[in-house]
Amino acid sequence: MKNKESRTTVALDSLGCKLNQAEIQSLARKLEAAGYKVVASDAQADIFILNTCTVTHVADRKSRHLLRQARRRNPKARLIAVGCYAHRAPADLEKIEGVELVLSNDLKADLPDLLKDPTLQPPDPFPPARSRTAGRTRAFLKIQDGCHNFCAYCIVPYVRSSEYCVPADDVLTLINDFLAEGCQEVVLTGTEIGDYQNGEVNLTGLISRILSATTLPRLRLSSLQPCHISTGLVELWRDAHLCPHFHLSLQSGSDAVLKRMKRRYTTSDYKKAVELIRSMVPDVAITTDVIVGFPGETDSEFKESLDFCRAMQFARIHVFPFSPRPGTAAATMPNPLPDSVKKERSNQMLALSMQSVIAFHERFIGKTLDVLWEQQSGGFWSGLTGNYVKVYVKSSKTLANRITPVRLVKLYRDGILGNIQRT
Ligand code: SF4
Repeated sequence: MKNKESRTTVALDSLGCKLNQAEIQSLARKLEAAGYKVVASDAQADIFILNTCTVTHVADRKSRHLLRQARRRNPKARLIAVGCYAHRAPADLEKIEGVELVLSNDLKADLPDLLKDPTLQPPDPFPPARSRTAGRTRAFLKIQDGCHNFCAYCIVPYVRSSEYCVPADDVLTLINDFLAEGCQEVVLTGTEIGDYQNGEVNLTGLISRILSATTLPRLRLSSLQPCHISTGLVELWRDAHLCPHFHLSLQSGSDAVLKRMKRRYTTSDYKKAVELIRSMVPDVAITTDVIVGFPGETDSEFKESLDFCRAMQFARIHVFPFSPRPGTAAATMPNPLPDSVKKERSNQMLALSMQSVIAFHERFIGKTLDVLWEQQSGGFWSGLTGNYVKVYVKSSKTLANRITPVRLVKLYRDGILGNIQRT
């Protein structure tokens, strides 16, 4: 049996959404329990695993780049690609030098077992130990996978076709495991967590159970759609353990474009959902995703989208220039827009996002909010409030993984500079 120091090292990295991050964290835990030593993503390692993303052609390119970079860093390492790009176009990744295994989304959970293949030089089993991941303040927990909505631009239904919801009891067990490891915040992720349904338990029921049956300091949700927002769901935010942050995918503020995108709501539905949330959750951050330059998007449709986003006063807008994904309906739609138009619209939407971020941050100057501290750099600690404002303080104390009240003083970098009220 190998001793602890000679364990096979595995570096893991992930691109894309919070779901991918949840999966890579879960894989790291399984590999640690199976006897591997998980090291930093950019460290020397025997095995490098990349959870790829294929949401845009840029994500494809980054996935290939990270694999080649890992190869240069560790010429002898065995490279493994999993995730959505690996699922959609395995041949693209198989031809990268050093890539030994490309696994579809259906198979990636089996990776620890597949690694027992002698050609991948697995370690001798090492006594399973619960690992407390260094710097673990926030854990991403996948509660659901799969989508059958087939929005016109989205590759997800093709690469994550099997629908699955983690049973509520298992979610509670995992959260209690994270708590035992010292985690202060858990983010529930999935491709469409609003569709969570396991037996009688829907998302509202699941959150209620987490709030009543665990002592988790903070629970955050990843992306929802307007149709998921109901009074019953939003009422749960009376519990201060739920972070006042909703990521509500918009994709376009033009009804005509939403229809071509095959989204199942109108801007009016969206606005009602935002109004409901704001009426019930004080100081809430509402963030969103917007695609610019969808095929056939006219100047006036883009302007509608921009105006709607301005009116919604988002806390942040994640902007994606349209990128055709092979096999989706939008990839062959007429009137694709030139890159120059997409870039120009993207810049305008990003400028609005920047203004929106500043306006949102300014609302909290002079207030005191709780911050979960994550890292120190250049004498400053940084962390996030429940409503997703990045806060900096100058402190020589060790604050990692602690939640403290902070008085917010002035805009600073991409967030706000504050003073800790007590430690
Ligand atoms: S964008 Fe549409 S198709 Fe893609 S995961 Fe979301 S709901 Fe499903």
